[in-house]
Amino acid sequence: MAATTIEHDWSAQYRHPAKWSQVFAPMTLPAMLADSVARRGPAPMLDFLGRQFSYDEVAEGVARVARGLQQRGIGKGNRVGLFLPNVPHYVAAYYGALAAGATVVNFSPLYTVAELEAQVEDSGTDTLFTISASALLPTALEVLDGSSLRQLVVGSVAGGLPAAKSVLYRLFRRKEVAAIPDDPRVIRFSALTDNDARPEPVAIDAEKDIALIQYTGGTTGTPKGAMLTHQNLTANARQVNVIDPDHDADDRILGVLPFFHVFANTCVLNRTVLNGGSITMLPRFDAKAALAAITRTRTTALPGVPTMYQALLDHPDLAKTDFSSLRVCISGGAPMPAELREKFVAATGASLVEGYGLTESAGVVSTNPYDGPVKPGTIGQPIPATRIRLLDKEDPSRDAPAGEPGELAVKGPQVMQGYWNRPDADKDSFTADGWLRTGDVATIDDEGYIRIVDRLKDMIAVGGFKVYPSVIEAHLYEHPAVKEAIVLGVPDAYRGESPKAFVTLEEGFDVSGEALAAWLNPKLGKHERVSAVEIRAELPKTMIGKLDRKALRAEAGG
Ligand code: AMP
Repeated sequence: MAATTIEHDWSAQYRHPAKWSQVFAPMTLPAMLADSVARRGPAPMLDFLGRQFSYDEVAEGVARVARGLQQRGIGKGNRVGLFLPNVPHYVAAYYGALAAGATVVNFSPLYTVAELEAQVEDSGTDTLFTISASALLPTALEVLDGSSLRQLVVGSVAGGLPAAKSVLYRLFRRKEVAAIPDDPRVIRFSALTDNDARPEPVAIDAEKDIALIQYTGGTTGTPKGAMLTHQNLTANARQVNVIDPDHDADDRILGVLPFFHVFANTCVLNRTVLNGGSITMLPRFDAKAALAAITRTRTTALPGVPTMYQALLDHPDLAKTDFSSLRVCISGGAPMPAELREKFVAATGASLVEGYGLTESAGVVSTNPYDGPVKPGTIGQPIPATRIRLLDKEDPSRDAPAGEPGELAVKGPQVMQGYWNRPDADKDSFTADGWLRTGDVATIDDEGYIRIVDRLKDMIAVGGFKVYPSVIEAHLYEHPAVKEAIVLGVPDAYRGESPKAFVTLEEGFDVSGEALAAWLNPKLGKHERVSAVEIRAELPKTMIGKLDRKALRAEAGG
């Protein structure tokens, strides 16, 4: 075990100027896009199911969205929400809202009405973008009626994108497009963008203005909005660039990660915009479509979560996929099993590097080297200008004892400003001297490679998605027969982890675990569904009588 505070000196490895302050000078997201548009103009930026959009076309769409929002009173101080899958509208709305001076709020397209409504209210989202897919629009319309949301912008999945239609329908497993109601609060995307594409210029302070509010459970499990500035996001894209010395403007990134998540925001969208490459967007992950896209577009880089690599590896089309163009796969979001990595590399010949990060760090904190020695099972070394420290698990104001695991803490230009309207949560998430506490417990070896060994947080990583036991437990407690409940993540061959519930019953009740699971699962989001409910005579308790999750985890081997 080495020192507990490290900053890996990438400058020696890549002969970059050592003064990271120059490399990471303040930059806004619209300025980053404008720079690439000037350089790349007619070059392709997006490929959506075979239809290409050049940098110039995207820039025009962005300008039209910005102008349309400004015409409807949206600018600095407003929050614009995106309730969208990976469709071209996402890119135009994201950069357009930012160019108008607004703050973007990302919402998962899998959210239920209650989840979306809670976050729209919490963030004070004023305008929400969605598309007319039947899995999304009805949810957005309910939220429009039930919250303080002022207007809804609805893109058409059919208009102009005929090829997209059937794929979107199939992926959302619905046959129909929802009707767009005739309501003054509902604006068609085509009407919003019917303007001269000349937004009023807005002065944006890269280091102060919040570009993105990104909801995450953080350490307590109640979703909180991490506030990321323009600089947090552009710095993170540049940090990852430094460690990927072979990136260039001909990179073709496969965009299978959902854009609403910070991993995709940095490693797919913002990095592409920074470098002038192109993204092949898939509306949602589908192994067959992803493999076909790799061959068709000669993909050069593929960011993904471990379950995606597993699904690609398991698919019969793997053998007929041409991986010769693929130079790097970037895995993050959850631990990459060493065996899976080996198998994937053997089957494809591509290199696969594991990195680590979190919403609160705009995406990336550390990674294994792209062209140096990879240490499987580790999350690599801190990326440039990033400092890592191990805090004492019991007392975060102190360093962990030398050689012992500690809570990973981070400082760097990518670290968020704090949580939206949650100074109480900020106190728990930052140390007094400004280190972001990650809630992950790690060790650092002599070469500065970090290994995650545990996590303080209770959240369960189901594939790349984070599931909070408290949410599932709250539902369980609604059942009259349930006396006590603990939900833990248990190993799952496909999803990495899946939630499993352990309950005790009130006296006089006789209900099976299967029956409880069948009652519970329809109330939960897709990733929250439990693999099983186990009825126990009792559950472990702490000294003061609280349910002891930790003891149960040790006992259950989860
Ligand atoms: P999120 O904010 O949703 O991106 O979740 C961040 C959390 O995912 C981290 O705090 C870790 O617990 C976990 N995580 C991300 N990458 C890795 C990795 N490579 N290995 C293990 N855990 C990871």
